[in-house]
Amino acid sequence: MARTKTKIPVTLHKTYNNLGHSKMLLTGQYPSGGWRKHTPFSKLMEQEHTHWESWTERTPAPCEIVLDYDRLYCCYCHKIIEEPTCPRCSRIHDYLEYRKGIRDFAMMQIRKLKKNGYSYRAWFTGSKGYHVHLLFPRLALYPFFERGRKKQEFIKRFHGELNKYSERVMITREGAVHRKTGARKQLVDEVPGTNSIHRL
Ligand SMILES: [Zn+2]
Repeated sequence: MARTKTKIPVTLHKTYNNLGHSKMLLTGQYPSGGWRKHTPFSKLMEQEHTHWESWTERTPAPCEIVLDYDRLYCCYCHKIIEEPTCPRCSRIHDYLEYRKGIRDFAMMQIRKLKKNGYSYRAWFTGSKGYHVHLLFPRLALYPFFERGRKKQEFIKRFHGELNKYSERVMITREGAVHRKTGARKQLVDEVPGTNSIHRL
């Protein structure tokens, strides 16, 4: 499903600003290769002619937990690998098998979320991995460090990439075209709604 220029801010605004989030920063690359200055989402909303397609990355929201899956366990030595060649046992995984392994691992975690009654949106990132976004509106009310700790615990429980607990990392924006592959970040599964803080 193609996302129009007007749909992007509406989707982001409905999802995040309505949950009291005003701190999301966006950035993106200039055609020349340089990066745009990290700019608050609210500021881009105010501007009349924001070219939304060019703002392809965003920070995670305080009310949000991002589960990032773009790795898998080596089927020979069980080390986590981030490329087809295993750094521990040096075995080379067939590229399609490697991609399938990442997908299977993400889908396994997504099924676990669904079985446990969580609401989420699962996205193919446009690169090789998957992002699962979960909203916990009350999480935004927690102090910064406690919030980070709660996010880390949840991410560990579902085996996502730990650095995504940070609200300073950049992730591909929903509906954005991935700068390396040209593929769009698109929704693959969804259980609509938000989650109770008691589920953390
Ligand atoms: Zn290995």
